[in-house]
Formats: sequence, structure tokens, C-alpha cells
Amino acid sequence: MKKATIIGAGLVGSLWSIFLAKRGYNVSMYERRSDMRKAGYIGGRSINLALSLRGFRGLERAGIADEIKAVALPMYGRMIHDLAGNLAFQPYGKEGEAIYSVSRGGLNIALINLAEKLPNININFDCSCEDVNLQTAELSFLQTAENKAFNLQSDLVFATDGAFSAVRTALQKRPRFNFSQQYENYGYKELVIPAGENNTFLLDKHALHIWPRGHFMLMAMANLDGSFTCTLYLPYEGEHSFENLKTDEQITAFFATYFADAQAMMPTLLADFHENPIGVLTTMKCRPWSFQHKIMLLGDAAHAIVPFYGQGMNAGFEDCVLLDDMMTDFNENWDAIMTEYDRTRPDDTDSIAELALRNFVEMRDKVGDPRFLLRQKIAAWLYQQFPADFTPLYSLVTFSHTPYSVALREGKAQDVLFEQILNLPNIENDWQNETVISVFKTWQSNKG
Ligand code: FAD
Repeated sequence: MKKATIIGAGLVGSLWSIFLAKRGYNVSMYERRSDMRKAGYIGGRSINLALSLRGFRGLERAGIADEIKAVALPMYGRMIHDLAGNLAFQPYGKEGEAIYSVSRGGLNIALINLAEKLPNININFDCSCEDVNLQTAELSFLQTAENKAFNLQSDLVFATDGAFSAVRTALQKRPRFNFSQQYENYGYKELVIPAGENNTFLLDKHALHIWPRGHFMLMAMANLDGSFTCTLYLPYEGEHSFENLKTDEQITAFFATYFADAQAMMPTLLADFHENPIGVLTTMKCRPWSFQHKIMLLGDAAHAIVPFYGQGMNAGFEDCVLLDDMMTDFNENWDAIMTEYDRTRPDDTDSIAELALRNFVEMRDKVGDPRFLLRQKIAAWLYQQFPADFTPLYSLVTFSHTPYSVALREGKAQDVLFEQILNLPNIENDWQNETVISVFKTWQSNKG
């Protein structure tokens, strides 16, 4: 019997367990937390997530995409809230294209339920991986409910234990293991806009709401019960910062100045603000992801990114799909799979890390800038005119399976194109014209 051990039954670990089990592996999965179906979901991170095409492909392969879509809310674009409370809708892609707001806990539970139905997966909750002996591939666990330690040996280990992975910490002690971690000077705090009467949505449920304020922003995504989970992204220090939002008066005045329309719908703002922790934003990179073709890091354990492109989980699910394809291509030869995966995948995960950081500036600042909005309009028009030759960057990342590294390169090339287009005389008033098309065609032919 082929055997595999998975550390961490989060989003990526539980999906990966299903892929392995479907290929006939006997999978043992160890999760530090208690069974979230009994204990409730303690995420410590965003309550809802944006799921898009790459993530859906993973769920399709597991056979639960339709089940998840049925309890997800499509968001067709961004709704920008300006200081005066005016709204402007910016579609994400072509008509009908959407990203989906899903409950993190609900999705994790659906994956665990599916995993548990498969006879060759066993899930062990309350088991925290404490260390790995890399020489012997022996894993040390603590059974937290009974405070009992135990060890086990495994020839094939997948570490999906998240951004602060214990397995990666063990690998970091090895010579020539590269690791970098970059914290942003920003943190985030989750707040809530509760449902209105009879569970009505107080904002458009089919949009991702953004209150861009230059160096900070508020964001909101709908939940099925009519509420919206809001996330405030703010620097730790400085004029507008968490450091300066300590008292009720400071918080109330800050929201009244910058997010008055949202504040009017947040009756528990002060309690939530004081109670909810400030989350950290970090980008983590490491290499190699595999060790002696026996241990492999996947998902956030290998590549944690900031959340501004809504791609962390999507990228983790894409990891599973790519590895699944490689299992076919390399006939389940793990030496070959891990070597190839370590060689080819990091360029893409580094690229989405960079794109996610760039998108923070776009969301908090540029979405309110007329020049940026004009660029978006022209990009959508070019997409319509030349669908085979031009796809806007957001669509490449979100609505296609284009490798992230290719999308990043294309995005940088598009920056050059729009620099030229936006510098054309009178472009604000006349942009659907032959000159724009000619600049586009020259750019395209220079790109090769
Ligand atoms: P995790 O989800 O962190 O799961 C790791 C699991 O391992 C957990 O269950 C944990 O309990 C367990 N574990 C940890 N240590 C141990 C141990 N020592 N032993 C045993 N088990 C252990 N991504 C998107 O695609 N779209 C979004 O909209 C989005 N929004 C986000 C918003 C915020 C604020 C943040 C912070 C992230 C967001 N992400 C989003 C990113 C997404 O949350 C992660 O990429 C995703 O959760 C990674 O899944 P994972 O399974 O690799 O890790």
C-alpha cells in the first residue's frame, strides 16, 4: 500500500489528502487544532475568502466545486466608496466573470467531510507536529488533548502546516536552505457590518467593497447570512495608524472622517475594534521545498503571501493540481516529481507574491485615481477589440490558468503600453480611436 503523511488539515492539506487518496494512497493527516466540526472553526484569519478560477479547478478535481459554488457569493467587481459616500462600480472582467466570497471555515469543513468519507484517509485532530528528525524522517507529535508525545516514521511527508510551518522550521536548520520573511508595516483588523432586518444585505452582495484612502483602506465581502466581513488595513505607526486608534473617541472620529457610510452600518464597531486582534501581513519564501524526495512543503508553508490579490489559497490549490498532473506525467516517481516541482514552481509563487504586494497599492490608492480608472476602461476596450491578443493583468491572474510568472511579465509590459497611451494628447476625452489601436499594435509587435 502506498502511504503518505500530511501535517496540517487546513485548506491545502485537506484538498491534497483527497487527491492522494483518489490515487490509492493510504493517507494519515495530523492537525494541531481540535475537530472544527465539533469545536467550531477557530481560524485566526479572514472569515471569508475570495475563491477564483485556479482554486475552483482544485475543487473540481476533488469533486466538490458545485457544492462550494452553491454556498458562495459571486462578486462581479469592486464597489468603490469615496469619502462623500458616492459609489462607483468597476467590473473585474468580462460579463459574467466573478470571484466568489466563501466562508473559510465552511470550505475547510466541506473538504474535511469529503476526506473523511474516503476509506483510505484518517484524520488525527489535536496532534501538533513539534519537530522532524531529518536524518530518519521521524516526526514528533504532541497529542494536545492528553499532553502525550509520540513519534512516527513516514517515507512520504507533505507539510501543509501553514505560514509558520513546524516542518519548515526543522528544514531551516539544514545548510543551504534559503528562507526569507518580510513583514509589512501594515496590520489588519476584522470588523463586521451585520445583516439588516430579515437578513437583508445592507450593501451590494455581488461586489467587493473598497474604501480606498491612500495609505489605508477598508474592505468588505458579503457572507451568506446577510452580514459583511470588513477588513481594515492600516499602518501600525504614524498619523493614521493602529497606534493612534486606542480610545473610543479616536476610533469613532477616525471612522466618521474616513468611512462614515460604513460606520453607520457598524453598531458593534467599538466592541469589535477593541476585541479583535491585529493580524500581521507577511511574505515568506523558501527553497528548496523538498528534502531528500521524502518531505515536501506545500501551500503557505512553502510560499505565504499578502492577501491583496486574493490568491494565497488559490495558489495553494493550484499547487495540488500541478503536483497531481506531475504524478501522472512522472508515473508517481517522487524523486522526479519533487525535483521538477522545485525547479519549475517557485518562479510562479514568487511572481504572485510580487503581484499581491503591487495590488495593495492599487486597492488602497489607485482605484480612486482618475488616471487609473481611465487605464482600466481602455484595457477593457482593448480586451473587447482584441480578445486573442490582449488580456488585462487582473483577468490573467484571476480568470485564467496562465502561470503567475507569465502574468507578471505581461503586467509589466502592459505598464509600458499604458504609459504611452495615457500620454497621448486629449486621451481623457477621446480614447476609443485609431491612434490608441496603432500604439497597441506597435507595442504588441515589439513584444514579439
Ligand atoms: P493554513 O490555512 O494556514 O492551514 C494550515 C493548517 O495546519 C491549519 O489547520 C493549522 O492548524 C495546521 N497546523 C499548523 N501548525 C501545525 C502543526 N505544527 N502540526 C499540525 N498542524 C498544524 N487567499 C485566497 O485565495 N483568497 C483570499 O481572499 C484570501 N484572503 C486572505 C485574507 C487574509 C487576511 C489572510 C491572512 C489570508 C488570505 N488568503 C486568501 C490566504 C489564505 O488564507 C492562505 O493562503 C491559505 O489559508 C493557505 O492554506 P494552507 O492550508 O497552506 O495553510
